[in-house]
Amino acid sequence: MFQLSIADLSQCLARRECSSVELARLFLERIRTLNPGLNAVITLDEERTLAAAAAADRRIAAGESGPLTGIPILHKDIFLAKGWRTTCGSRMLENFIAPYDAHVVEKLDAAGMVNLGKTNMDEFAMGSSNETSWFGPVRNPWRLSAVPGGSSGGSASAVAARLAPCATGTDTGGSIRQPAALTGICGLKPTYGVASRYGMIAFASSLDQAGPMAKTAQDLALMLNAMAGFDARDSTSLEREPEDYTRELTRPIKGLRIGLPKEFFAEGVQPAVTKAVEAAIAQYRALGAEIVEVSLPNMGLSIPVYYVLAPAEASSNLARFDGVRYGHRAAEYTDLTDMYERTRAEGFGAEVRRRIMIGTYVLSHGYYDAYYIKAQRVRRLIAADFAAAFERCDVIMGPTSPTTAFELGSRTDDPVQMYLCDIYTIAVNLAGLPGLSIPAGFDAAGLPVGLQLIGDYFSEARLLNVAHQFQLASDWHVTMPSSFAA
Ligand code: GLN
Repeated sequence: MFQLSIADLSQCLARRECSSVELARLFLERIRTLNPGLNAVITLDEERTLAAAAAADRRIAAGESGPLTGIPILHKDIFLAKGWRTTCGSRMLENFIAPYDAHVVEKLDAAGMVNLGKTNMDEFAMGSSNETSWFGPVRNPWRLSAVPGGSSGGSASAVAARLAPCATGTDTGGSIRQPAALTGICGLKPTYGVASRYGMIAFASSLDQAGPMAKTAQDLALMLNAMAGFDARDSTSLEREPEDYTRELTRPIKGLRIGLPKEFFAEGVQPAVTKAVEAAIAQYRALGAEIVEVSLPNMGLSIPVYYVLAPAEASSNLARFDGVRYGHRAAEYTDLTDMYERTRAEGFGAEVRRRIMIGTYVLSHGYYDAYYIKAQRVRRLIAADFAAAFERCDVIMGPTSPTTAFELGSRTDDPVQMYLCDIYTIAVNLAGLPGLSIPAGFDAAGLPVGLQLIGDYFSEARLLNVAHQFQLASDWHVTMPSSFAA
């Protein structure tokens, strides 16, 4: 049962083969027994979960259900969920109870999804390995000594271990796609502005985007149907006609033009990753796709540009954590300035402090033009590279991450090595495009490899179609870590 996709669970519920309360109990039980080895879930509230499941069962009985009604979900702990502790992986918010719902949570609740709990994450979503969380590192179910990727590593690890059928994530520079790749699941970052950022704790507001994480592309489409939509409370939320993201799933691949940027197959990619990605592309060719070579000449600048812009925005966003209104406050201090200083020094971890310092520096008088403005200009060039590439192809493909999951602790002393994890994902956020990662094989040690699909603005339905057709012809997405299969 715990192996089933959302689409299949939904059928079981409709046929009354199971109830939502039974599903909630099943997954809560898996979390209880299996989560201690993973540390993927950090907050549970069984009473609330079971009450939501009972309400979903009543809706199903009344014939008022949709495809997500009664399906359990975990939320990354960056999303406010009313009455639930919401920590963002930080000591700063260790005991913070959300006073209202994020728009995404509100929409998924309205669709009848049942909140199972909150997932661990890198502190304030800053990281690529889930080792910066105040609540300790998350482990990868494929190998417990390895990281699950980050920052949505708790969501990824939980879905990979089948502690939940699906989860929410957020992606500022790769945080949905990279952990999805490292744990063998699917994750989609929508076009910037498709899902509202209201109630999603802000990291870098011009890059942050919420998205679904699940086992299949079809499930991502079902979730995105509920997550997307205009929200007046987010000024960057896009006012568009609602779309059905499942509408293109069955479209054949024949005639699809796949762009392969040579920059994605450069040095530094593990041979096993290249091999799996090339095999996936060969499979697409067999399904009738054409291959076009494209180039993204400024892609190499995406990491330096991101590490100016994201810290700049973070330093501004995180100024609100001052110990005055909510969150941690130092127990002892001499005056107001001392209170701010101690509170922030105690409340934030090392990576968050590093970002605040970089951000403050690049925004300061005298450096603003040299760093911040220049980075904004290069950001535009990166977006222009993609626009040129999409004149020649329908979808860009390549690896999601240059490596498979690495050992815990192996990169924590070297921030630059850690930042390089996102070399293939960050440009997508800088341009505001949609990107998707799907499982595409394993390395020799049995660790999953992710294939990244990047589309033009608002091409989510097509990306999901391209991913779904691959999943009809392959079974990487149904393979699960054997020690969690019992
Ligand atoms: N790993 C990147 C960072 O540390 C991206 C994080 C994210 O997408 N939230 O900033």
